[in-house]
Formats: sequence, C-alpha cells, structure tokens
Amino acid sequence: MGIDIQGVYKSYRNGDQITEVLQDVTLQVKDGEFLAMIGPSGSGKSTLMNIIGCLDRPTKGNYYLAGEDTGKLNDRKLAAIRNRHIGFVFQSFNLLPQYTALENVELAGLYSNDSPKAVRERAKQALIALSMEDRMKYRPSQLSGGQKQRVAIARAIINSPSMILADEPTGSLDSKTGREVLDIFRQLNQEGKTIMIVTHDLGIAHEAKRIVNINDGVVREA
Ligand code: ADP
Ligand code: ADP
Repeated sequence: MGIDIQGVYKSYRNGDQITEVLQDVTLQVKDGEFLAMIGPSGSGKSTLMNIIGCLDRPTKGNYYLAGEDTGKLNDRKLAAIRNRHIGFVFQSFNLLPQYTALENVELAGLYSNDSPKAVRERAKQALIALSMEDRMKYRPSQLSGGQKQRVAIARAIINSPSMILADEPTGSLDSKTGREVLDIFRQLNQEGKTIMIVTHDLGIAHEAKRIVNINDGVVREA
C-alpha cells in the first residue's frame, strides 16, 4: 500500500501572483521503506510533506495513501486517515510547554476511542519505549533537545501509525544527539514502520535506505 503520488502539482496564489511550488511530482513509497528527502531551503520539501501528511492537498494530480484516493475524501475523512496512518515529528519539537512529557503524549492519544486510562497507559508505554520513563513528569523546559525529541517521537507513535513523517528532526540537535535520534528512527523502521525524513544534512540522508532529491519543486531519485 504505502503512498503513491501521481503527477502532483502545488501552487500558491498571493493576489495576482502564482507561485508554482511542486511540479509534476511522482513518487511511490512502499510500506517499510526508510526514505530521506533532501533539497535546499525553499525547494518544496515542507509543501510535499504537508501533502503526504494530508495536512494540505495538491492543486492538481493524485495522492493515494494506503490505497485511498485522498482527493475523494472530505476534510473529516482526510483527518481520520491522517490520525490512523501518520505520526509527525518536527524540527522544533512542537511540544506544549505547560504540559508534562506524559501529558503531551497523552493528548495525541485522545483522538482514539480508548478510555483516558487506556490512553495514559499507551502514553507511558510509548515513553518507556523511548527510554523516557524517568522524565514523564517533566515539562519541555526541563528537558534537553534530545529528550524533547524523544517525547515528540513518543507522541508520534502513540496511535501506532504505519508511517512517520519527520521534517528536519535533527535540525535543532547537536550531531551526536542527532545520530541518536536517527537510531530511534532506524529501530522503528526495523519494527516495520515506514519512515520519511526531510533533511538538508547529507550525512543524515545517507543513513536512510533511499534518498530522493527535490529541487525547485521537481523530485528525482538520488
Ligand atoms: P522547503 O521546506 O524546501 O524549505 P517549502 O515547501 O516550505 O520549502 O516552500 C517552498 C516554496 O513555497 C517557497 O518559495 C515558499 O516561500 C513557498 N510557500 C510555502 N508555503 C506557502 C504558502 N502558504 N503561501 C505561499 N507560498 C508558500
Ligand atoms: P520550515 O523552514 O521549517 O519549513 P518555513 O519558514 O519554510 O518553515 O515555513 C513555515 C510555514 O510558513 C509553513 O507552513 C509554510 O507553508 C509557510 N510559508 C512559507 N513560505 C510562505 C510564504 N511565502 N507565504 C506564506 N506562507 C509561507
């Protein structure tokens, strides 16, 4: 199943001006792949990831996620397929500062139909899997960058997504911590999850099993 992007274009309109961001992008990613997307700033990486993550829609072309034609889904169904299949990880962690690590992970689990108690248990298990059992009660400001990213990855996996999309997940970390975070993605990939990371760090990209380049909105296999 995985993802299947066919002839996707994306443009933005600001008044009279139209910016073409993605141009005729075709990309298939099978379940269980570990893919890195590299390209300079402004090349369209975030735009493509937003489409893959069902946060945004193509202007033209087709996107199939897990066999579903996303263009045929309304926003509510698109959100449902996103919550079921995809976990997100960001460069700046995007944790809520007023909540503890455990609460940040739990909040992402509340979309499910499980009881709050069951969600808390899943959140604990996710944090334990990320070796964060000693830091569950800490707030983000009390955690290091690497620890914050572990909490964010725990949040990304709480609903057992098949795919993780990570936009510059090591971009705010020193290189040693970045490599540790990469090891976590590698382990999740070995457990069967599809991993897609956006990076402009070639060293990080070469750790992936497959690299695609994006330049001025055009995607090419590396
Ligand atoms: P990258 O992630 O590779 O840095 P982006 O996908 O963020 O690139 O942006 C690609 C291009 O699209 C940039 O020129 C950016 O300014 C433009 N862009 C992105 N989002 C919008 C938007 N919402 N409205 C207008 N232009 C946008
Ligand atoms: P990043 O570098 O982390 O990808 P950006 O600064 O490129 O972040 O973009 C941050 C947000 O602003 C994104 O959601 C992007 O879609 C939006 N954006 C980027 N460029 C523009 C633009 N020219 N006009 C409007 N929105 C934009």
